[in-house]
Amino acid sequence: MLNFENTEIAFASKSNAALRKAKALYSLVARSWVVDIGKHVLNFLLFIRFPLRPFVKPTIFEVFAGGETIDDCNDRIASLDKYGIGSILDYSVEGSAEEELLDKTADMIIKTIIKAENTKAIPFAVFKVSGIASDRILERKSWHEAEMNDEEHEEWERVKQRMQKVASKAHEKKVPLYVDAEDYSFQPAIDDLVWKMMLKYNKKRAYVYNTIQAYRTDRYEFLQKAHEDAVGEGIIYGLKLVRGAYMERERELAKERGYPSPIHKNKDATDKCFNDCLRYIVKHIKDFELCNGTHNEESTYLLTELMEKYDIQKDDYRVYSAQLLGMSDHISYNLAHNNYNVAKYVPFGPVREMMPYLIRRAQENSSAKGQTGRELKLINHELKERRKAKRKGERQSELSTDKANKKMEDRK
Ligand SMILES: Cc1cc2nc3c(=O)[nH]c(=O)nc-3n(C[C@H](O)[C@H](O)[C@H](O)COP(=O)(O)OP(=O)(O)OC[C@H]3O[C@@H](n4cnc5c(N)ncnc54)[C@H](O)[C@@H]3O)c2cc1C
Repeated sequence: MLNFENTEIAFASKSNAALRKAKALYSLVARSWVVDIGKHVLNFLLFIRFPLRPFVKPTIFEVFAGGETIDDCNDRIASLDKYGIGSILDYSVEGSAEEELLDKTADMIIKTIIKAENTKAIPFAVFKVSGIASDRILERKSWHEAEMNDEEHEEWERVKQRMQKVASKAHEKKVPLYVDAEDYSFQPAIDDLVWKMMLKYNKKRAYVYNTIQAYRTDRYEFLQKAHEDAVGEGIIYGLKLVRGAYMERERELAKERGYPSPIHKNKDATDKCFNDCLRYIVKHIKDFELCNGTHNEESTYLLTELMEKYDIQKDDYRVYSAQLLGMSDHISYNLAHNNYNVAKYVPFGPVREMMPYLIRRAQENSSAKGQTGRELKLINHELKERRKAKRKGERQSELSTDKANKKMEDRK
């Protein structure tokens, strides 16, 4: 029986020392004032090029990142694989405008695709279009295409070429590729780019996935239209469903620029939209491949109920769940233990370049009431159980099985 309260399974891979370290970090970021001040201090230190590595690497980086290079991530990949959890290598360097760096990022994404081809424990690749395109051109293409000059058209052509290079490699190597969703001001260009790649590569299987952010008020209709178009074109729609990571920035920007906020009014409305999208996709699963990208227990239980309702096998290749490294192990490990397909995003990159990603994770966890409160409660519970068991001398935490490894082999 799937039960996210089972902390023995959730933390089977973690030593007492690792659990205590995670507890200390979560306790720190649970104080929102620490994160608020910490964010400004870190940004200042980055600005003056202070050597942050010795402080960041053994703390927040170790919890939320796999390493600085692809090969640094090998231990993490193996450790997740031992428990039947896949890894999705995420090169988390963001926001460059220099053409040379954008080309370098495209090359790095291709390296992750090749790594996935050669590693049974890596079922997908992932990237952000803002890693291969400047923010400015994404915004121009999204909203001001008619005003773009020759130089901008040429810049956009180079973005398309990078996208083509990455997607064709994913197709050639048979590694399905997630494309992350980003800011409202970039998303029309991203949706269009991804759709063109889907038309090319998703004829038999979804090798290119778009992402829907359920916090956006227009996304349920977007989903229905995308489905209709995919059926019309005879392709499979690959879809990662998430709630959305940029809510505060979107609201501020909408206010500043004077357009209605694209974000649902409250959390309940976002939750309803997420679960409605999930119901829609699973009902029409013959036309989709799905990644349920969430740390929300209710939405994860809902997926398992829907799979049962529509008679979909737990390890059906069309349905995956995914969480971010360092978050919600109780969901990932319990899903894997119950034979569902599950993977973790494993972000990597140089410490300095990964700071925006790490700050986002700390902010997301900076509410003792929300996610972090839950993580802390579960860690405390497990530490207490281990102390009790030690006294009685009975608990064994080695839960990995040959079955998990066999399952990962079968999936590829
Ligand atoms: C595998 C994976 C891939 C991801 N890929 C992307 C991606 O491509 N693009 C992206 O933007 N994010 C992405 N995310 C992050 C994701 O969008 C969420 O920020 C994060 O997962 C938290 O949402 P949740 O469903 O896990 O949990 P929950 O804790 O249940 O939900 C928190 C989310 O609810 C929404 N929310 C909270 N308060 C309100 C409010 N007052 N009004 C309206 N909505 C509210 C916000 O979206 C917030 O992030 C990804 C997450 C995962 C696990």
